[in-house]
Amino acid sequence: MDTKGDLLIIDDEIEVLNSLKRFFRKEYELHIVQNIKEAFEVLRKSNVGVILCDQRMPEMKGTEFFKVIKKLYPDTILILIAGYSELSDVIMSINEGNIFRYITKPWNLFDLKNAVREAFEKNSLIKSNLIMVEELKSANIILENKARERTQQLEEKNDKLQKLLASQEEFIANISHELKTPLNVICATVQLFSMYCNNGSLDERKDSIIKYIDSIKKNTYRLSKLINNIVDSSKIKSGFFKLSLSNNNIIEVVEDIVTSVTDFTESKGLNIIFDTNVEEKIIACDPEKIERIVLNLISNAIKFSNFDNEIFVEVKDKGEFVEISVEDNGIGIEKKNLKMIFDRFKQVGEALSRNGEGTGIGLSLVKSIVELQGGSIEVESEFGKGSKFIVTLPARRVSQENMLLSSKMRNGKESIQVELSDIY
Ligand code: ADP
Repeated sequence: MDTKGDLLIIDDEIEVLNSLKRFFRKEYELHIVQNIKEAFEVLRKSNVGVILCDQRMPEMKGTEFFKVIKKLYPDTILILIAGYSELSDVIMSINEGNIFRYITKPWNLFDLKNAVREAFEKNSLIKSNLIMVEELKSANIILENKARERTQQLEEKNDKLQKLLASQEEFIANISHELKTPLNVICATVQLFSMYCNNGSLDERKDSIIKYIDSIKKNTYRLSKLINNIVDSSKIKSGFFKLSLSNNNIIEVVEDIVTSVTDFTESKGLNIIFDTNVEEKIIACDPEKIERIVLNLISNAIKFSNFDNEIFVEVKDKGEFVEISVEDNGIGIEKKNLKMIFDRFKQVGEALSRNGEGTGIGLSLVKSIVELQGGSIEVESEFGKGSKFIVTLPARRVSQENMLLSSKMRNGKESIQVELSDIY
């Protein structure tokens, strides 16, 4: 230890004090006093490690003084200097555990020095023990806090998991209904066909059979859309969903999609308009996925619009970005629901939909596909007035090599029928 220990020496004889002073002054920080009162004063002001006290003091015996000290300063080590005649007091004090060493008068200098050194060793041991206990206590507090934090994190995770499980259960209940509906129509129609075959009325029912075949077709597309969405949604979740990026004129891609649904929207009494601020903008995109995104948004716009409404599709060149928006003046979305419409399996405000069908996969899938292409999607909507979905895509290009590798054939007509299959 580089700092000297504080040694308090109490003796009423000045000569004794002087000789003790000579012995110890180099090794310790000395406090020399002639009476108990002064001793208490020193104890109050300094951090005394060891006390060397004479048994025979005018105010009180050294052993009595040590009794008090043990209570007030339990970590201070006490050495008593006493003659043989005071042995009975000394023994009592030793038995009470107050004294560390007892030095007889006249003392042996070597013994005295050793006793003081050992007393300081004990004192520093006690001090470091105390420090360790304190450190242990604070380490314990840190550990407890960490454990509390971790428990809270686990509880939050558990909570999220429970919610996810609940929403998945809800999703399965929804999806089974959605799967069963077209399947029931197909089954019932097939049963009808079989009945017509058995009773020989097939020929005379030709007209209605053509309608039934059309219904089977529509319901098959509906099933296809649903299954595609479920499969893609889980592919995205597990990271197996792949994009085939190639350089395409995004204006043409979107305009083609709008043109291909125009007849359908008109048949629903809706007017669809396409607009753009440029004729050509080549960007790296996956046309099949762009079609998926835009058709999904148009399909929703149709679903949530009223007769005679308008759907406005626009592509804007914004330099480093391209903005594709699909706007309708249909039923709109309530503010409180705006945030969750992109959540997987969430379908909001069923009462507001023109039909209560749906799985709530559509927009979450659109969002994921947009994000996979490095873009983002936003919605602006006013309840009762309409909605606008804005997709922003980066306007970068891919190398020719990529383009050849990833180009894909599109089966336009069929995919449109599949995407729009849940609109009646
Ligand atoms: P679903 O596949 O069930 O249609 P989506 O994820 O496509 O689900 O849409 C989620 C919900 O967002 C819909 O149930 C509907 O309440 C709301 N929504 C989506 N698009 C529109 C829109 N254009 N107008 C009004 N509400 C919409």
